[in-house]
Amino acid sequence: MTSSAQTRDCVAAEQEDDNPIEEILLHAFPNPERVGCPPPETMRALGERRIGRDDPAWDHIWHCSPCFADFKTIRDARLAEIEGAERTARRKRTASIWAAVVVGFACILVIVLFTANRVRGTAIIAVDLTNEGVVRGLGEDDTANGRVLATLPRKLDELHVTLPLFSHPGRYVLAILKSRSESTAIALGSATTTGTDKKIAVVVTFDLSSAKPGRYYLGMRREEQGQEQAAYYYPVLISGG
Ligand SMILES: [Zn+2]
Repeated sequence: MTSSAQTRDCVAAEQEDDNPIEEILLHAFPNPERVGCPPPETMRALGERRIGRDDPAWDHIWHCSPCFADFKTIRDARLAEIEGAERTARRKRTASIWAAVVVGFACILVIVLFTANRVRGTAIIAVDLTNEGVVRGLGEDDTANGRVLATLPRKLDELHVTLPLFSHPGRYVLAILKSRSESTAIALGSATTTGTDKKIAVVVTFDLSSAKPGRYYLGMRREEQGQEQAAYYYPVLISGG
């Protein structure tokens, strides 16, 4: 390997501003008369690697400090451009990796929440008592013919109960009862009504996850300044499974 070839390899390997060999080359071969210097187009082509290293001009720049200075300026600009492009690409790659990580975590979160909700098993049940009357609740006939107003899964049930027409707004106590007696309640809740005259509703949550399947009553009573109002009972079914 010739010494100039070795120098070239060193330059190629390091290509740094503080390269001591390049520092020497910049000053070791002054050529104020610019004897034998290739034209600027050739220098540019060399710096941009558009012509091969077998070109005679390539050998010249290692023995001519002003030409090496010109070459170095052009080459460093090209390397800075490549480095900038690489940095941009790296940034883009990093950004897309982060985007993928975020999307991945979001998917996992959705799955976890979905699964948790299924395990916890909150069921939203609409119970419409609009036309059931406020006078007495359902009569014995209705109970006897097996009619139920709602089927409640054995879960955490969120009941959205639309009260019978002309019900009074206010605070209501609701219960799931084995029979028409409040002492047999297996779940109890209370809520304040929302809505207007035509559609007054209460939302109450019952944990029925350990209830035995079977027929029950949804009991409902309005609380009024500590006074107990009459209770109404509506047959419901707690489904198994
Ligand atoms: Zn020269």
